[in-house]
Amino acid sequence: MSLSPALALAPELIHLDNLLSLASITPDDAGCQRYLAAQLSRLGFAIQWLPCQGVSNLIARRPGQPSLAFSGHTDVVPAGQHWQVNPFALTEMGGQLYGRGIADMKGGIAAFLVALERTLDAGAELPGVMVLLTSDEEGEAEFGSRVIAEHLAGQGQLPPWILVGEPTARHHSGDTLRVGRRGAISGTLTLSGKAGHVAYLPSGANLLHRALALGERMAALEWDQGAADFPGTSLHITGLEHGDWLDNVTPSTVSIKFNLRYSHRTNSDAIDQCIRALVPADLSYQLGWSRPCEPYFSQFADQQPNFLTRVEKAVFAGLGQFPVLSTAGGTSDGRFFRAQGAEVIELGLPNASIHQANERVEKSEFLRLIEIYQALLASL
Ligand SMILES: [Zn+2]
Repeated sequence: MSLSPALALAPELIHLDNLLSLASITPDDAGCQRYLAAQLSRLGFAIQWLPCQGVSNLIARRPGQPSLAFSGHTDVVPAGQHWQVNPFALTEMGGQLYGRGIADMKGGIAAFLVALERTLDAGAELPGVMVLLTSDEEGEAEFGSRVIAEHLAGQGQLPPWILVGEPTARHHSGDTLRVGRRGAISGTLTLSGKAGHVAYLPSGANLLHRALALGERMAALEWDQGAADFPGTSLHITGLEHGDWLDNVTPSTVSIKFNLRYSHRTNSDAIDQCIRALVPADLSYQLGWSRPCEPYFSQFADQQPNFLTRVEKAVFAGLGQFPVLSTAGGTSDGRFFRAQGAEVIELGLPNASIHQANERVEKSEFLRLIEIYQALLASL
């Protein structure tokens, strides 16, 4: 930590300081999980490693039937330029804590660890509580939480409740919970035909004209409206490519690039069929997809108190108000646990500066998150 040697580091910042000083750019864990495994094993957690394709995955669990698991990622995005402080150190300045990954999401991990320490120190047993960590969230996320979720489900050991420590808050830790996320997928629709000279070509034979008409129909497609707490599906065209340009020749191939954000009411197969059905029968085309992320949406058990009510009460204890439920934002590892049947809630720090230079959170919000996690653990 960057401060004068006379000042000692507050005990609740020590884990954060240690994690931030390790430059764990995806998929390199850089020793974060080794550090956390040592801390968790000191707290009575059994440690299991689940490495996969250069990704570090850790399952730590207290004895007993699986109950609640905290899921997190130790990897961060590269620091980039324009930092006022060392990105790979904890810096406290003007009431703010700085460092790459402080919000997304080493801060969440460190807060949960402090909450565990305090709760166990107070004599709680926390049977079956787990900590699940991966170093592959910011990348393709192929060999991380998906592998952990499938492994636990295969063993019949998947906890029913998954708390994801992603930064979900707007202003104050806990003000917003994520209980689902829209799916995302990118498509490229490539039309092929004949190039033509504009002096001789009828308008309807111009492949670019046909692509523009098709693009207009794609943009006008009507999708599902989602649900009360879940936004509907939308499609955006993000690019049009047609090779080298000449002022009097029409192209022989045109690619329409597009991206969809979609609700739990549809899936990538249905989307594929929808797009194919739009292409006129006389056009030859290829349709390719990339970066698919299926959506998830948590449903909670009817009997009270259920997972959601417990989390809401814990937020009230730390924040003095109940959280807003949201399904906005990009995808998260929550989808892998939901796909195996767990109830998933994402609860973490404010996210205003994630992935940016000078990533930071207010120290008071970090301390608040510890209190919220502690209240949740106490309710188990
Ligand atoms: Zn994250």
